[in-house]
Amino acid sequence: MSNPHYPNLLAPLDLGFTTLRNRVMMGSMHTGLEDRFYNYSKLAAFFRERARGGVGLIVTGGISPNRSGWLLPFGGTLNSWFDLPNHRKLTRAVHEEGGKIAMQILHAGRYGYQPFVVSASALKSPISMFKPRALSEAGILRTIRDYVRCARLAQRAGYDGVEIMGSEGYLLNQFLCARTNKRTDRWGGSIENRMRLPVEIVKQVRAAVGPNFIIMYRHSLLDLVDGGNSWDEVVAVAKALEQAGASIINTGIGWHEARVPTIVTSVPRAAFRSLAGRLRKEVKIPVVASNRINMPKEAEDIVASGDADMVSMARPFLADADFVQKAAEGRSDEINTCIACNQACLDHTFSNQRASCLVNPRAAHETELVFHRAARKRRVAVVGAGPAGLSAATVAAERGHAVTLFEASDRIGGQFNYAMRIPGKEEFSETLRYFTRRLEITGVEQVLNKRVTREELLQQGYDDVVVAAGIVPRTPPIDGIDHAKVLSYLDVLKHNAPVGKRVAIIGAGGIGFDVAEFLLHDPQVALPVALQHWAGEWGVDLGASANGGLCKPHEEEPVREIFLLQRKASKPGAGLGKTSGWVHRATLLRKGVKMLAGVEYRKIDDRGLHITVGGEPRLLEVDHVIICAGQDSLTELLQTQAQAQAQPQSQAKGAGPRFHVIGGAKLAAELDAKRAIREGAELAASL
Ligand code: FAD
Ligand code: NAP
Ligand code: SF4
Repeated sequence: MSNPHYPNLLAPLDLGFTTLRNRVMMGSMHTGLEDRFYNYSKLAAFFRERARGGVGLIVTGGISPNRSGWLLPFGGTLNSWFDLPNHRKLTRAVHEEGGKIAMQILHAGRYGYQPFVVSASALKSPISMFKPRALSEAGILRTIRDYVRCARLAQRAGYDGVEIMGSEGYLLNQFLCARTNKRTDRWGGSIENRMRLPVEIVKQVRAAVGPNFIIMYRHSLLDLVDGGNSWDEVVAVAKALEQAGASIINTGIGWHEARVPTIVTSVPRAAFRSLAGRLRKEVKIPVVASNRINMPKEAEDIVASGDADMVSMARPFLADADFVQKAAEGRSDEINTCIACNQACLDHTFSNQRASCLVNPRAAHETELVFHRAARKRRVAVVGAGPAGLSAATVAAERGHAVTLFEASDRIGGQFNYAMRIPGKEEFSETLRYFTRRLEITGVEQVLNKRVTREELLQQGYDDVVVAAGIVPRTPPIDGIDHAKVLSYLDVLKHNAPVGKRVAIIGAGGIGFDVAEFLLHDPQVALPVALQHWAGEWGVDLGASANGGLCKPHEEEPVREIFLLQRKASKPGAGLGKTSGWVHRATLLRKGVKMLAGVEYRKIDDRGLHITVGGEPRLLEVDHVIICAGQDSLTELLQTQAQAQAQPQSQAKGAGPRFHVIGGAKLAAELDAKRAIREGAELAASL
């Protein structure tokens, strides 16, 4: 019987020799757990929850077929019998929950961050410090044998198939494109030669594993780099892979070194689905759509319209393990949506930390952050409905405590209400939709428009008070700070204060960058920005006619002249996210924002902002100066020293509530929503 809510997405997919229970694939993600043998039980728990949540096919993080393919030193491998017991933990966990799992074989090629790197040619990538060695003929043949051995071992470990990673600029993509393949032997030159390695790998793996094993190939549809392949070449490769024995073609967009964003939050949802649709018309095997698909509605539409047979979502399964089950039961409004921020997943991976999720701190920590039913029901007050308070309140209530949430304003969300007004950050509203529903389901009592005081809290007999009251914006002591042309970021984002055409922003942190982006948005262009407009801004040819899908970006007159300033001498924006900061910087630079570092603020007067840069005095003749100079904790609910001295006894005897402080109220420096939500969940798990 077809599912009444998502009949196409949740229909089974018959591959001939096996059937997937639906068309939802959890795409490969490197969590960091696969790199250490002692973490495989944690990885198994991570996969088990997703399989129990109904995913049709899970793909593991990348496992290297040999040492030269490591992404990082001592990365996860499967090249000997000794590795099998660990991998069996993963396959067993998934099969026990009725799911299927494929292991991704990933050879990093010149993206490897280790000294043994190899590639098609000896050309260093811009994102690794190690220059690769060009593989010899014998080295290529050995690499093919390593892929075959790895796939056979995967079969023995109980995997239902393998995914051969051929996109994102990794080794096989390096062979496929003239950009990185300068060889003159039978492995380089024409597209027939350049595709020889991936095609040979698929052919020999198929011969080794037999017909009843999934071989999925992740194929790059749009390289988005100079010297990338044309659409005709992409199609020719796909047909050859099908002929060689691939069972499914998964799709990838953009190399890691591309200067076009492909998965950050400002990329429109499902931006690249049309390319999967075009490829699907060229081959007979199933095609999978991927990139920036994060809700079942878009996924259903992709399958229903014939753009793909299956939809791959990766980060959405960090955000919510029960995504499929909720969709199947008509509870999509309960899905904790991935907001594509990259802050706890890719930014962690690229800084060698275990991946998790900003909106779901349990991701990849399933055995460590556990929300057990509380042994005794406690009366808990949570003060502040920003990310920290929402997380604490909902987890505490889920565990069985009686929770009251006080919020001074008329809505939940705290600073997320301003974050979601930034062009390209509209997804942040999904988190507030999720928490709104979660508060209802867990039965949290909400008291809005109530700025609660310490005295009130002490009088109401709570067992625990969680102070999640957030921050106050910092006002720097600059001469003229009270001038009429000075605004705070809240004046702009919360109170819609009119802003002139020439603006100086004091503070080039995350909020300074966001305010600049907000002020540069052309009010004539509707939000969220439409796909064609976005593609034009970034120079993306979605028709993929040539050169990896790159074309000349559209040039637009900036809406305002903006100076973005900081005192530090370092590059403005250096502290932004590792995988998203460059997107913000590139956007502002393209729109003419002048970023100044090493600035000393002297005064603000009718003429504008007086500064010194590099010892030289300068006057910025601006209409407004907007302060984005960081924040300080809001501490009004915390015990002052005098109070502490007056009542030490009652606190010691446990006569009053226990006070806990989380999020911005605890520490404003380096605060972000990732820490706020994690602290809320961790505290609530311990009450
Ligand atoms: P807040 O969000 O400040 O919430 C505190 C709440 O407590 C408020 O709603 C306040 O009204 C309430 N309150 C205070 N006192 C009382 C009282 N006495 N009684 C009742 N209620 C009270 N972070 C990221 O990680 N990624 C981003 O991309 C990002 N972008 C941002 C963009 C902008 C424009 C802004 C402004 C912030 C952004 N942030 C981002 C920061 C993020 O929003 C904060 O780190 C996060 O909101 C902090 O959560 P919190 O719960 O500690 O505090
Ligand atoms: P922030 O990132 O700490 O930046 C504060 C800025 O103010 C810095 O540029 C700092 O630079 C300047 N500053 C600090 N004290 C000052 C003073 N006394 N006078 C003048 N300038 C001063 O903080 P934020 O921009 O307020 O952001 C708050 C949090 O939200 C951050 O932790 C951030 O991670 C998060 N956030 C993240 C994103 C994202 O895209 N990931 C977006 C928005 C916000 P100098 O000291 O060099 O002048
Ligand atoms: Fe999505 Fe952000 Fe979570 Fe990564 S950290 S999975 S991008 S919500």
